[in-house]
Amino acid sequence: MIKKLLIANRGEIALRIMSAAKELGIKTVMVYSEPDKNSMPVQLADEAHCIGPAQPSESYLNIPAIMTAAELSGADAIHPGYGFLSENPRFAEIVESSGLIYVGPKPEHIKLMGDKQLARGTMESLGVPILPGSNGVVKRIGDARRTASKIGYPIILKAVAGGGGRGMRIINSSAELEESFNTAQRESYMAFGSPELYIEKYIERAHHVEVQVIGDGTKAISIGDRECSMQRRHQKIVEEAPSPFISQATRKKMLETVEKAAMHLKVRSLITFEFLVDDKEDFYFIEANTRIQVEHAVTEQVNWLDLVKEQLLIASGKGFSFVKEGINHRGHAIEARINAEDPRTFSPSPGKIQFLFIPGGNGIRVDTAVFQGYEVSPYYDSMLAKVISYGRTRDEALKKLETAINHTSIVGVKTNLPLLLSLIKSPEFKSGNYTTRFLEEEFNW
Ligand code: ADP
Repeated sequence: MIKKLLIANRGEIALRIMSAAKELGIKTVMVYSEPDKNSMPVQLADEAHCIGPAQPSESYLNIPAIMTAAELSGADAIHPGYGFLSENPRFAEIVESSGLIYVGPKPEHIKLMGDKQLARGTMESLGVPILPGSNGVVKRIGDARRTASKIGYPIILKAVAGGGGRGMRIINSSAELEESFNTAQRESYMAFGSPELYIEKYIERAHHVEVQVIGDGTKAISIGDRECSMQRRHQKIVEEAPSPFISQATRKKMLETVEKAAMHLKVRSLITFEFLVDDKEDFYFIEANTRIQVEHAVTEQVNWLDLVKEQLLIASGKGFSFVKEGINHRGHAIEARINAEDPRTFSPSPGKIQFLFIPGGNGIRVDTAVFQGYEVSPYYDSMLAKVISYGRTRDEALKKLETAINHTSIVGVKTNLPLLLSLIKSPEFKSGNYTTRFLEEEFNW
């Protein structure tokens, strides 16, 4: 069993990992940047090491500093959380070649899924449906033209190395393609260090539904699905499990298709397979995330699991603690992400939290690391807290979430609380049939 775990992250996910580790009797080591010196994870860990200044490139992305902290502390494992180094195959390789345990998927799978075009091709070869699009990377405008006229507009131009909702452009006509192709290549190079692009058919009324998979390196299980269609700037803001949109028959097909592919790949730890689902409930793979997801909590609540504990057990060579037949699907869970941002422009709002109240109560789980007096840094992600409600039915979970968000009060920074409340109360959200364009294109508030 892992004895001492270094957590290479910050904020709520660092605390989340820490509680799972403590439950398993594992000692915890935090690494932190200078402004995070007084953060909750640093205060609550058994041991903490400063790894550099605020800029992520000099601290949370600083592999030599993190590896030095691991050596100094005698940690035998590293959990990368999400964001930062969590999908960096080189980091996973360095951790493993230093004789430490990497709590996450195999480096080869991180590499494979990090190249979205390669991931697409691999999944297709494993019998998973993908969207019509380019066959590999589109290097020249001529190739882009040919693919676009074959599949028809609108199309979406995507950066092979893209992520976090960035590196995507919707193209509606050949004129737009001529105008945008070179700029998109340049932008992709600037943002991700690679100009490579690929093309997919753009689905106008899409649902984002994803499947959580767990594996021990030899066998894999599809645990369940999540609906993540409530997005701004292609980034999720409210998620729920199970998806209120897809039918039982679609769910069964989707979970089985994914499980077969995951079994074939022999995945280890947690991987999420993301799909777009159209009006007819046809589903298409778009990408896979080789890490714990922000929205993992909704899956935990409806399946009575602790996914981080499972990750630690798998990494310790013990396999996961349940069998497929033993998964106890029950009720419904919804997560709302409270961000320090302007609710209309979505621009981040750093500053000091002067007052904070987030209620708990029956059917409410709050994952957060912020407190009154906490300084929201401009250097890091703007998410302050995740409020997760769960109940016997979707309606019950929805009402609990509405009350919890309504009773939450944060003063000192702008937050998206008013937006979340309006969204949760909207008839469209209540109906359970909302697409990825709802928040930004159809929702008037
Ligand atoms: P990222 O890695 O940046 O999160 P994804 O490929 O997961 O990128 O896509 C993020 C979101 O962008 C999707 O959930 C969806 O809203 C939108 N999107 C991506 N591809 C398409 C597509 N082909 N058609 C319609 N929407 C898309």
